[in-house]
Amino acid sequence: MRMTRIGTVYQLSFLPHFFPVNCYLVEEKNALTLIDAALPYSAKGIMQAVQSIGKPLTHIVLTHAHDDHVGALDALKRSLPHVPVSISVRDSHLLRGDRTLLANEPSSPIRGGVPKNIKTQPDQLLQEGDRLGSLEVISTPGHTPGSITLMDTRNRSLIAGDAFQIRGGIAVSGVLKLSFPFPALATWHPATALSSAKKLRELQPALLAVGHGKMLEQPNPAIDRAIAEAEDKMLARA
Ligand SMILES: [Zn+2]
Repeated sequence: MRMTRIGTVYQLSFLPHFFPVNCYLVEEKNALTLIDAALPYSAKGIMQAVQSIGKPLTHIVLTHAHDDHVGALDALKRSLPHVPVSISVRDSHLLRGDRTLLANEPSSPIRGGVPKNIKTQPDQLLQEGDRLGSLEVISTPGHTPGSITLMDTRNRSLIAGDAFQIRGGIAVSGVLKLSFPFPALATWHPATALSSAKKLRELQPALLAVGHGKMLEQPNPAIDRAIAEAEDKMLARA
């Protein structure tokens, strides 16, 4: 595991050279919030990172319910049963293995690894605008129907799950990058993901932190390029 810090955001990266999977610790005055839970074997590394920073972990929040973002959830909840787990209302269905679409959703199959036997039930179901400490919940559907981004309101850092990928070249979720195609292949609805990418761009982020790839400071020019590329691809398809 590799740990990198920018401001209030610590990136924990597992398999950083081969198939990088990130989760994040966000530092509050007296506590830490874990965003995503990486892979099944990541629990030990996450606990060690919490100890090395030296503040208690008081929240676990999930950007979406794909396997590589919830892997260590059950192990963490066993060690820390009092720590509440939060996920969007919509992706709480995926967390319990239910891929059924809702009546108002585009009829495109939910893709990617949806967990089959996660035991943990969320303690809190999130919606747009909810707050967890310094973090604000921003609804950013597309990669999955209930994907969310967390924004640290102190410094405009975005922890965006798979709304973008950075490994293999920055891309809006759903735009295929041949050197790292997995996030695109796991994306439910690219047009919705593009709308969410534009919504995040409007927030003028100072840091972009995603599930796969290194953190990016002052990301707006790169986000603009990624949005332009996604628009080109979308037009080519239409
Ligand atoms: Zn994903």
